[in-house]
Amino acid sequence: MLDRAVALDREDPLAAYRPEFVEAPEVVAYLDGNSLGRPLRVTTERLSAFVREVWGGRLIRAWEEGWMDAPTVLGDQLGRITLGAGSGQTIVGDSTTVLLYKLVRAAVTARPGRDVIVTDTQNFPTDRFIVEGVAAERGLELRWIDPDPDSGVSEEELAEALDERVAVLLLSHVAFRSGHMLDMKSVTAAARAVGALCVWDLSHSTGVVELHLDRDAIELAVGCTYKYLNGGPGAPAFAYVASSLQDCLAQPIQGWMGASDPFAMGPSYVPAAGIRRFISGTPPIVGMLPMRDMLELIERAGMPALRTKSLALTDFVIGYAQERLVPLGARIASPRERARRGSHITLEHPAFQGMVPELWARGVIPDFRPPEGLRVGLSPLSTSFVEVARGLGVVEELLAANPA
Ligand SMILES: *Cc1c(COP(=O)(O)O)cnc(C)c1O
Repeated sequence: MLDRAVALDREDPLAAYRPEFVEAPEVVAYLDGNSLGRPLRVTTERLSAFVREVWGGRLIRAWEEGWMDAPTVLGDQLGRITLGAGSGQTIVGDSTTVLLYKLVRAAVTARPGRDVIVTDTQNFPTDRFIVEGVAAERGLELRWIDPDPDSGVSEEELAEALDERVAVLLLSHVAFRSGHMLDMKSVTAAARAVGALCVWDLSHSTGVVELHLDRDAIELAVGCTYKYLNGGPGAPAFAYVASSLQDCLAQPIQGWMGASDPFAMGPSYVPAAGIRRFISGTPPIVGMLPMRDMLELIERAGMPALRTKSLALTDFVIGYAQERLVPLGARIASPRERARRGSHITLEHPAFQGMVPELWARGVIPDFRPPEGLRVGLSPLSTSFVEVARGLGVVEELLAANPA
């Protein structure tokens, strides 16, 4: 397996980008880029130059010299490079959780007379909790799709859940546990056919899967930037609202920064035109800095090349697991079909939970999702095949010594 990994690295056109990331000398295999991406070397200098020259040098004048427009300028850049979104439809700010609340709440309000929100039991906790909250707040019913955890929501389950009572459908594009990927275009069209709005969580697909939000007629989406966009811990999230919908949506956290003229300090709230109305308070400028470096790197490498390598990495993990880990009692809990797979693979074994401290001690860092899932995240610009082979090699060694 190591030989094959060496050969794959040698042929990898993206291998040259790896040295651009900060090194962690004691880390043998970082398999958690889907949870917290690694920082880029240039980010060190960008952060320190920002403190010295921009914040320190320009002080409050910098609000007029770029900070006020940062949520939309960075949003446009993120939209163009990773979402297939034309300008004026993406903002950066808040957390994924808060943006989810804003969009789900706005979407529900835009469908008066409808009393159902649909999501699935395998969705990420924050997504489930947000719709529980909105449903309680607005007196709506939650309708749960209960998909097979290894695969994901099926077309039949979706068809069964959608009807004229549904206001909003909230789904993750790539499931956080299994890595199962849905067809955004057809699911959105199915929701639209019954008059419902579809909100997508793109946290596990942004920066690893080619997205075409405009082309696929996607309406609403949010996503995280500290995973495959390497924005750093707590980096602000993004929201996408298709142009056609912006002026008919009212978001619930009406703050001064989303008002039509923030510095008029007017007596009541008048929302800004366009995507700016989805902003609430002062934008997190410092938190936006690292992701700019990653976006520039992704643009240089190109999203198609990233997806190609991501698939090769997930293929490699599946192949490794089938050959070496399944015989030791592990199970592959992710889709085998390439078109239905994001950029992580979940392996299950009752011994995994107990193994995590030993893996970390040996410099192998995957993450663990209860009850027994080891999630192997593969960030195409920073992960090498050799790194994956070494990391899985340690998993194999520990499993062999510790049979179920
Ligand atoms: C990581 C992740 C989030 C993160 O939400 P925060 O508000 O940034 O903590 C939300 N949804 C999904 C599907 C995620 O994977």
